[in-house]
Amino acid sequence: MGFILNKISADNFLSSLKDEYYIFAPKCFEFGGTYSDTDTIRYSQINSFDEIVFDKKSLYSFKEAIFHISQTIFYFTEDQAKESNFNPKKVLIFLRNCDLHGLKRLDDIYLHNGPEDHYYKNLRENVKFVVMGCENSFENCFCVSMGTNKNDDYDLSIDKQDDNYLITCKDNEFNKILADLNISQTEIIPKFVTSNSVKVNIPDNLSNDIANNSIWNEYDIRCIACGRCNFVCPTCTCFSMQDIFYTDNGKVGERRRIWASCMVDGFTDMAGGHSYRVKKGQRMRYKVLHKVLNHKKRYGEHMCVGCGRCDDICPEYISFSNSINKLENAMKEVTSNE
Ligand code: SF4
Ligand code: SF4
Repeated sequence: MGFILNKISADNFLSSLKDEYYIFAPKCFEFGGTYSDTDTIRYSQINSFDEIVFDKKSLYSFKEAIFHISQTIFYFTEDQAKESNFNPKKVLIFLRNCDLHGLKRLDDIYLHNGPEDHYYKNLRENVKFVVMGCENSFENCFCVSMGTNKNDDYDLSIDKQDDNYLITCKDNEFNKILADLNISQTEIIPKFVTSNSVKVNIPDNLSNDIANNSIWNEYDIRCIACGRCNFVCPTCTCFSMQDIFYTDNGKVGERRRIWASCMVDGFTDMAGGHSYRVKKGQRMRYKVLHKVLNHKKRYGEHMCVGCGRCDDICPEYISFSNSINKLENAMKEVTSNE
């Protein structure tokens, strides 16, 4: 069963959660886009359902609410270190079906990949998720090809219909709050798309033998190594470490972990001055094969969830879906040369 909430009851529901939860959702930042007269949609805390953008895709993903762009993990003096305090307040995140699949990829990498990541686990344990249904596919989405267009593993689902919000609930705490609001209940099926105009085909015989094929060369010139594709991606998880020494006392400071990108210069720098994947085409090859080949070998499903955000944001109009669709012919070339 589900609940139909008008704006007032929806905001009452939100208010009843605010003391216990930080609530993050895609929100419009006017004139915050690439150009001075364009808006951007990204994650931020919200106070009202009016602020949530339902009819457009967020340029950035939900991951910045759970895997912080910069996180201080401990403070140090000359001979002591103290872990930074952990904020125990719970978090509620509104996200799309594909993004909820993306969460599973983050969990696999941080929690099921050897020892659990302590800092991610602390944040992750306190988070619940609201899936926002997609009425129609957005530009560049290819979730159907990736099998990520539907996800039932949510705490709440929400669809906007005219001025009302249609909600289904699988969480006992939220169910009780909704029931107490005395709202009419009805059968609701959360929305999801069943087709996208962009489709991708990942060849069954894809292998690392494709690494030396010439398809990667075009990116040597086209890609400018800005890393934007990684930063918007819900499934990119790389970070780097930064030690900050305070200016008033250079022996005291803090260690932060900050987002990193396999596409930018310096990502593979090693002691002694050596670097791997100096050419941008090599970086593209690494990224593509990580997303649609190597992750699946370890975890059973592709890392890419087909959200299309990397296509939306690339200043060089490099399309990730196009690069996937070039793999089939390239593999034919590889096998015919064997
Ligand atoms: S690689 Fe691109 S399409 Fe795939 S999940 Fe990341 S941002 Fe989305
Ligand atoms: S966003 Fe485009 S130009 Fe920037 S690193 Fe990614 S592929 Fe290259």
